[in-house]
Order: sequence, then structure tokens, then C-alpha cells
Amino acid sequence: MKKPFVTKEKVEEIVKSFPTPFYLYDEKGIIENAKAVYDAFSWNKGYKEYFAVKATPNPVLMELLMKQGCGFDCSSKTELMLSEAVGASGSSIMFSSNDTPAEEYAYADKLGAIINLDDFTHIEFLENILGKIPKTISCRYNPGGVFQMSNGIMDNPGDSKYGMTKDQLFEAFKILKEKGAENFGIHAFLASNTVTNEYYPTLAGQLFELAVELQKETGAHIAFINLSGGVGIPYKPDQTGNDIATIGKGVHEQFDKILVPAGMGDVSIYTEMGRFMMGPYGALVTKAIHEKHIYKEYIGVDACAVNLMRPAMYGAYHHITVLGKEDAPLTNVYDVTGSLCENNDKFAIERSLPKIDMGDYLFIHDAGAHGYAMGYNYNGKLKCAELLLKEDGEVKLIRRAETPKDYFATFDGLEIAQKLNKITDK
Ligand SMILES: *Cc1c(COP(=O)(O)O)cnc(C)c1O
Repeated sequence: MKKPFVTKEKVEEIVKSFPTPFYLYDEKGIIENAKAVYDAFSWNKGYKEYFAVKATPNPVLMELLMKQGCGFDCSSKTELMLSEAVGASGSSIMFSSNDTPAEEYAYADKLGAIINLDDFTHIEFLENILGKIPKTISCRYNPGGVFQMSNGIMDNPGDSKYGMTKDQLFEAFKILKEKGAENFGIHAFLASNTVTNEYYPTLAGQLFELAVELQKETGAHIAFINLSGGVGIPYKPDQTGNDIATIGKGVHEQFDKILVPAGMGDVSIYTEMGRFMMGPYGALVTKAIHEKHIYKEYIGVDACAVNLMRPAMYGAYHHITVLGKEDAPLTNVYDVTGSLCENNDKFAIERSLPKIDMGDYLFIHDAGAHGYAMGYNYNGKLKCAELLLKEDGEVKLIRRAETPKDYFATFDGLEIAQKLNKITDK
């Protein structure tokens, strides 16, 4: 069973200061999980988790992770700026982007970030921008074909736009070395939201073997291997979550089996998890404001897909708890909808839930990663606030809700801006 990290009473207290809908993050959960991640990889001297900023780009949450030792994985200029603002620099920033604009490479280099090249052609592209090749450089690998784990889970790297082929990778290392690179990294992201302890160890095994080959053939010094993201969370209540200690142990075994005998026991392991670091520790809290009985039963809430897009975009399951009715029988079947003029704006379809009364608060679980971050403004809907539930029970506003002024701000060069200002000031 999935349990919310707040009670109905606490939410009733919070809404006195911050109306629904809002995101609520659990400081205690975030810290404990980050500690468990570092424990799991403590056998590796250079281990570092580069939190994938795109998952939850909030500077207060980033600072929280930084205190636990995390760096940041960025893939855009604004993510780099956020990392810079919270005080990260140099090798605590990984720049893993693709289809990268020139100015973003330049910005990443200015911060001293580690640049992870998505493509072979980016070697020349980067050299033209920087006038040099950085001393530390990483390349993203795409093995093609199908990535299969022994438990049957698979993904299709052959269909993905990321990374270099094996031949390109070998060629890239040779060229980069000739151009002055001294420390090399290998990066691969082959499967998303894997709910199995096998993903990292299987991926690590493949990358470690590749690293041994690469070093033998090119003489490049491989300083780190970046397992990237993809460690998943159990969105559904009947799923068993990943055990990060088991995952760390699995990677350690591959390390001892493959890298250590090759004299490469000094390689640092990096990860770039987003979902696993934040997903379970953030929720979208929303209020039931309408019920509708037509061919199906509908509950309308005050949040919509603008606040959490995953269900509309991927049909993703997010568990819902009706606060105060945690133990009530699931007597009703509802579609839980937002207000967009789009029929995919549903947080749940034909979900068995307790009877919902108007004014009930719904806790939408596992929205802490790729939740707020994917927000958009369709239908002129505004993004909601983000709140942090601190360990001591205090609630802190870590991003205010958008206002109509924010929504109209980019018309500021037009004559209509004055009228809009007058209207929003009323
Ligand atoms: C999205 C992304 C991640 C994080 O992925 P999760 O599935 O959230 O762990 C890490 N690295 C890169 C390059 C990404 O694009």
C-alpha cells in the first residue's frame, strides 16, 4: 500500500496559507534516500550522483541534494544557470545534452562543467566553439539493437536518437586524445524507469567491458563511467521498488570482476538519477471541486495536466490517495479529471477509489520528478506553487504559483501590455 507523507489535518493547515493545487516535497524522504544512494556506492572512491536537474528544477531542492554530496546533470543553459546559482561549478556539473546549441557548450565550458558529447560530429563542433578540446571529456554510447536484462525487461537503444555507435566511440576517443584530452568518461542511458535491481549492474557490466577494450585500443585514460539515469520507482502500489543497496552491490561485483583485473580499479562511478532521487518525495495535492454523472462518473479537481502531464502524455499511472479516507473501502469507480479542453486531461481513468466528497483533498503520489518540471501553459492555465515540508514539520514556499501577470509578461514589448497590466492590476 502506498502511504502519503502528509495527513489530511496537515493539508488543512497548509491550505490556510497556500491554496490548492500545490506540489509538496518531503525533505526527510529526500535526505534519507540521498544518504542511502551514497551508502550503496561508498565502495567506489570517486562516486558521485549528478542529480538530473530536468526532473525537478528547483534551487531549494537542488541545495538540499548538494548538501548530501550531489552534483548536477544539466542539459540546457537555464539548468546550467540554476546549478551555477546554487554554487555548483567545475566537475560537480555534468553537461549531458543532445542537439546542443553552440552557446550552451560555451556556457558549460565557462562553468568548467564536464562535457558529455552526444555525437561524433560534436567533437569538431565543440572545438570550433571553444578553440580547444577540454582536458576532461565524456562520450555518450549507444549500442543499438535491443537492451535486454535477464528478467525480460528490455528497451530499444537502436530506436533512440542519443549517443554514438561503437565504431564512432573508438574513433572519437582516438581523435580527442590527439587533440589533448587526458581524462575520459563513458556515458550510456539505455532504459527508462526500470523497476528492477538488475538495470545498473547489467549496464555497468557492458560499459566496463567496453571501457577495458577502449583503454587497450586507444590508450585513453578512462577516469569515470557514468551510468546515467533510468533507475525507476514503483508507481503502482503492487510493484516492489528498487533496492539501491542491492543495485550498488551488483555494480560493485561487475567492477571487481571486470575493471579491477584490467588494472582499472581507480575508475569513478557516476550516476545521473532524477526520478529515483525525487519521484516518491513529491506529490501534487489537489481538491475535488466537481462531480459529474453522465456515461461515466467524473471527479473534477482544481489541478490539471498543466500541473502534472505524465498521465496525459504517456498514460502514466499515478496512485491517488483521498486524504482522510486512507482506510475507506474502494466503493466507487471514477475518472479524475482536470479542466483542460482536452479529453486526455485525466489523472486517473476508471480508478477504484473511496467515495469522494466535494472539498476532499487528493494526494497524487510520485510526482516529485518529471512532474512540475514538464508543466506548460495550455488553455492559459497557470503553474501552481511548490512547497517543502521540512523535517521539523514547517512548510516553506519554494516557488510561488504563477499569476496572470507572469503569463502575459512576454507581451511586454507590445502596446497591449499596458491594457493587460491594467486588467491584471484590478
Ligand atoms: C532524463 C535524464 C536523466 C535522468 O533520468 P531519470 O530517469 O529521471 O533517472 C539522466 N541523464 C540524462 C542525460 C537524462 O536525459
